[in-house]
Amino acid sequence: MSRTPVARPATANGRRGVAAEELRRHNLAAVLERLHLSGTLSRSDLVATTGLNRSTIADLIAELTGLGLVEEGPGVAASGPGRPSPLVRGRPQGAAVLAVEVSVDSIAVATAGLGGHDYNRVRVARPRRRFSPQETVRDVAKLAEPLLVSLPADHVLAGVGVSVAGVTRRSDGFVHLAPNLGWKNVPVGAMLATELGLADQVMVANDADLGALAEHRRGVGVGVGHLIYVSGEAGIGAGIICDGKPMLGSAGYAGEAGHTLINPDGHKCGCGSVGCWEAEAGEAALARLAGIPANVAGLGVLDTALARAEAGDRRTLDAIAEIGRWLGLGIGNLVNVFNPELVVLGGFYHALFPYLEPAVAEAARVSAVAAPGSVVRIVSSGLGPDAPLIGAAELALSEVIADPARSAGRGVRLRPPAEGERGG
Ligand SMILES: [Zn+2]
Repeated sequence: MSRTPVARPATANGRRGVAAEELRRHNLAAVLERLHLSGTLSRSDLVATTGLNRSTIADLIAELTGLGLVEEGPGVAASGPGRPSPLVRGRPQGAAVLAVEVSVDSIAVATAGLGGHDYNRVRVARPRRRFSPQETVRDVAKLAEPLLVSLPADHVLAGVGVSVAGVTRRSDGFVHLAPNLGWKNVPVGAMLATELGLADQVMVANDADLGALAEHRRGVGVGVGHLIYVSGEAGIGAGIICDGKPMLGSAGYAGEAGHTLINPDGHKCGCGSVGCWEAEAGEAALARLAGIPANVAGLGVLDTALARAEAGDRRTLDAIAEIGRWLGLGIGNLVNVFNPELVVLGGFYHALFPYLEPAVAEAARVSAVAAPGSVVRIVSSGLGPDAPLIGAAELALSEVIADPARSAGRGVRLRPPAEGERGG
């Protein structure tokens, strides 16, 4: 059960040595990524999809096996001549991660492993804007504890990824602003690492960015190179996948589409401005147009709107169509700028999709210019409300995949809580 990275030949400071080292790291990552995304592949599949030769693949698999990240089983006989090609798969417990989502109305945790293996997921609804960052981090740790304890005994905890509905800095897990949580300048990554007793940094990212990542890797966007995920929660965010990669901007803050101006004569936004996209197409607009008070018998705006829409309530259906129109106009703008193949509607737009779709499609068709508008499809999230949570797991796993040899040797460690430490 050795986790020691395979010894590498010393690179004699020469360019060739460094280049060979980089090439090997790149190839290891490419093979592990394919196994992570596909589940199980034969050696022949890996040869075919990577373009690497058979002996290189055998070599890379041997290294990944030594790192505990993949395992091989007997192959199934192919129709042609020769021995069956052995089947290779990611070893979930070789890199298990904890995923966390802090959303406006709930907190959720999940444990997952390489190869897209789901160990466990839990979501707990919470009243909006009631909890401080400290209380939230403590609740997340409590929720995570039984999940972490139930991971296989030989697991390596490879990382923690967190989704927050706010403007986040990935490099150190700092949340600048989460207006709908009521948080400002909160070092969520560091706080959660302390609460969980981790020595390593916890990765924190924006919920829409992680929704985009999840849909691209596991949802309706698999195989789609250019994708935009529009998340509607209390606000609106956009996560962009460009040429198969997340487009995060120079400092990681790209996608704050909810605060782009869409209606100069519009309504006041939570950010202090007027006529922002989320002020016209977000939850507050739906509540205002449908005449839904903030809290109807403990139900949120979404649940109330859904119940009324299902009952055929005209005012609610008109309200949904109206926010759909603003939503579609904004999507048309994004389509003109980014030319995506797919726009995925997540968050509360996922639930409202059957009612929203005609208005969204019509408005997007009008506001997108002909060429980019003709290639785009607007669909509902394939992963539903858990998309950002699944994206948080993918974020944590992406570190391992990017550099398997470096990551596998040093899984993050939990320290047992000291006596009375979590008493309150
Ligand atoms: Zn705004």
